[in-house]
Amino acid sequence: MFFFIGGIQPKTVDLEETARLCPACGLAQARLRRVDHYLSLFFIPLFPVKRGEPVVICDRCGAVSAPDAPWESVPPKPARRDCPQCGSALDPSFKYCPRCGTRI
Ligand SMILES: [Zn+2]
Ligand SMILES: [Zn+2]
Repeated sequence: MFFFIGGIQPKTVDLEETARLCPACGLAQARLRRVDHYLSLFFIPLFPVKRGEPVVICDRCGAVSAPDAPWESVPPKPARRDCPQCGSALDPSFKYCPRCGTRI
């Protein structure tokens, strides 16, 4: 009898050695981390299925803050909005929905 015990499990990766000042508690206990999601079998991570965004997580108070690291060259995703009326994707610069004419 074969039992397939698998699933997706998160795995926290430290991205830098030095701790940072936590913006919440003010102690140098925060680290830049990334939470990747791994496909696991029998609770052993096999391979990553989803790579998380880097965040600063504090060891002491658990506060999560956005990294202000200038070396992170990942461009911020443009804020996409959906029309509240018809649900079509809108460019952030639009003032009216091109499909149904609703004012945003
Ligand atoms: Zn903290
Ligand atoms: Zn619309």
